[in-house]
Amino acid sequence: MSSALRSGDLLRMSSLFVRTLREDPADAEVASHKLLVRAGYIRRAAPGIYSWLPLGLRVLGKIETIVREEMNAIGGQEVHFPALLPKEPYEATGRWTEYGDGLFRLKDRKQADYLLAPTHEEMFTLLVKDLYASYKDLPLVIYQIQTKYRDEARPRAGLIRGREFVMKDSYSFDVHDEGLEAAYQKHRDAYERIFTRLGLEYVIVSAMSGAMGGSRSEEFLSPSPIGEDTFVRSSGGYAANVEAVVTPVPEAVPYDDAPAAHVEDTPDTPTIETLVACANERHARPDRPWTAADTLKNVVLALRRPDGKRELLVVGLPGDREVDLKRLEAAVAPSEAEPATEEDFKAHPELVKGYIGPQVLGPQGAQVEGDDGEKRSAVRYLLDPRVVPGTRWITGANEPGRHVFDLVAGRDFTADGTIEAAEVRAGDPAPDGSGPLELARGIEMGHIFQLGRKYADSLGLTVLDENGKQAVVTMGSYGVGVTRALAALAEANHDDRGLAWPARIAPVQVHLVATGKGAEVFEAAERLADGLVAAGVEVLYDDRPKVSPGVKFADAELLGAPLLVVVGRGLKDGVVEVRPRAGEAEQVPVDDAVTETVRRVEELLEN
Ligand code: ATP
Ligand code: MG
Repeated sequence: MSSALRSGDLLRMSSLFVRTLREDPADAEVASHKLLVRAGYIRRAAPGIYSWLPLGLRVLGKIETIVREEMNAIGGQEVHFPALLPKEPYEATGRWTEYGDGLFRLKDRKQADYLLAPTHEEMFTLLVKDLYASYKDLPLVIYQIQTKYRDEARPRAGLIRGREFVMKDSYSFDVHDEGLEAAYQKHRDAYERIFTRLGLEYVIVSAMSGAMGGSRSEEFLSPSPIGEDTFVRSSGGYAANVEAVVTPVPEAVPYDDAPAAHVEDTPDTPTIETLVACANERHARPDRPWTAADTLKNVVLALRRPDGKRELLVVGLPGDREVDLKRLEAAVAPSEAEPATEEDFKAHPELVKGYIGPQVLGPQGAQVEGDDGEKRSAVRYLLDPRVVPGTRWITGANEPGRHVFDLVAGRDFTADGTIEAAEVRAGDPAPDGSGPLELARGIEMGHIFQLGRKYADSLGLTVLDENGKQAVVTMGSYGVGVTRALAALAEANHDDRGLAWPARIAPVQVHLVATGKGAEVFEAAERLADGLVAAGVEVLYDDRPKVSPGVKFADAELLGAPLLVVVGRGLKDGVVEVRPRAGEAEQVPVDDAVTETVRRVEELLEN
């Protein structure tokens, strides 16, 4: 049997550059952050920026190795780009501005603009353009494992959302769409192998490609209550990031028989519930009672474009649903959304708070001339896709204390378009008809997407095709959060005493503890350590002479090696103790200790 062991080495606790802490760092909220700091894997240098200590680097290196092996296995070639980059390529694609505040920008001594790269599409595209000219050069997959910089609005959870972090990013280059499809599928398969080998549970969900542009896109999420991503899944196999959920559009409703719209005084109806009660009292329906879903809620927001311009947007949606800002922002990217201010309302007196109705919005409202000279609505109005023609609504009449009833979409009002901005709720139907949706949280570990020709177009990457014509290259871009994976693994593998690494990525496989005062204990432990290292095991040997067993065990459990071997009291009876991080201790004869430990390490590495 070929062994999963590679080359062994020995770390000594007496000289290892580490200090374990008994207290949680004050700024840490999640377990992985607390434990990685307490166990001496990382130290905070600034918000979202961390220094790496020897144990942390060892784990990081193992994760990188797995990623690298799987990327090489699909024919990826490793390269390395600078993190410090000139502005021009990012201007050519528009991302110098589109990235907004998320980009670290800086100037050199000649006042030329530079940035710290948040991702490298531009540089990869330009390098291929520099070197390649023919379809014969393609397909190509190149990748790097490299440090990225993003001035995240809310760095949080330690390594999970850093401002400096390590990403594996790869890029595929093809002449034809089928080539891109194949490269995408290869990456998808490679990612499945990477996360399986890392021992990280994952769900593949459809995603929006956001500021990156492009078409098909999926994310690999690790289910976790501390995740910032909400995703949905149905029992029938549909899974999507909540931003990517498409609302099934109901059929239009015939409205020939619908009553004419009529405005009424509705005193004492400050909330949707009171308005619904009033409707049921005055206009009881024969078929069913009115509900909040029959009211049309018009939510005023402001969008800030990357160039700094601000515009008002009103979203009309059924009154039983809230606007989900993340979904809204995904729909309007790269613009950002913020609540409307008092000034906004002052500038638009037609918007009567609490009583806003479609009659003053979008096509029904004032029109202005846009940047492009085209007429457009002064207040842009976008509707939830459920508001189809023929649906009947109760909504504001644009006067304090008055509502309008039987306002029919398509007959009495229209909008400037639709928008996916309403919250997705458990029980909503999956867009592909595969059943009701359930919601869960996850950490985004990886993202694969088909960029198509967007970057190649804006940077002029073309090659001569089979017919001697210039063809724009089609690209894919694929990322794995390497430092985030380390944190997600710590998140998924710990208990209240500390970390509990899977053997494949643990900094060492065996934590060897010598307890007691006699020289024989330390001599026996030393021999055992040598034997293990010679067999290819990575060992952290706690050789500190004057440290109590309690402290040594507490450190071992905090540091999280998968196997603990204790040389101590049992030695006089010829045994040592072998104990998995989360399992029962077993007494093993000293003479068998190396063989037995090696056997267990191999077993752990293979699982
Ligand atoms: P998020 O939505 O979490 O901000 P993203 O969509 O911006 O992620 P990508 O640009 O697709 O992420 O980056 C590829 C991968 O890099 C992500 O899947 C994630 O694992 C990792 N990543 C992104 N931002 C960060 C960060 N601030 N800290 C650590 N890892 C990150
Ligand atoms: Mg991001």
